Amino acid sequence: MFAAQRVVRMGHRLDALPGGFELALRHRQPLVSSPMAVTLTEAEVRLLQQRATQVAENSYSPYSRFRVGAAILLENGEIVTGTNVENASYRLTTCAEQAAITAAVAQFGPGIRIRAVAVANLNGATCIPCGACRQTMLEFADDSVPVFYPAATGEVVATTVGELLPAGFRLNTSAEDR
Ligand SMILES: [Zn+2]
Repeated sequence: MFAAQRVVRMGHRLDALPGGFELALRHRQPLVSSPMAVTLTEAEVRLLQQRATQVAENSYSPYSRFRVGAAILLENGEIVTGTNVENASYRLTTCAEQAAITAAVAQFGPGIRIRAVAVANLNGATCIPCGACRQTMLEFADDSVPVFYPAATGEVVATTVGELLPAGFRLNTSAEDR
């Protein structure tokens, strides 16, 4: 079983979003291996999830029909979104999370740091970031950064970057290198 199932969840059921499934956040103990140092309000989580769902409407996914959106909250307070863009040469497909991070760098420069990530889809499916996206998030996020994604039940589940990729690849760079 994936560790993210024993998750931080908050409070109560939220309203249905345009994606068609209800979000529910329940409260449990923080994760052990990568505790969330960052706390978001329920409203912030909800907004992030809404933005991820909204941008999924723009998904270019004629092959899989799997319409995914991602919204990242930056430490500067900005939210940047991205969606998946497929390609006839399948392996060239770009994930929503990577698209959002690329857009964030384009808008705010190489010094961006991620405060939280939310992913959503319009298919009512579970949608946890893939391995490539975990490594991409790690480049701009501490292990404790929360990641919210829809579980199979339709609930939004919270985990962390460190929980998703406990042995990620990092090179030591200074701020001057960026
Ligand atoms: Zn991915």
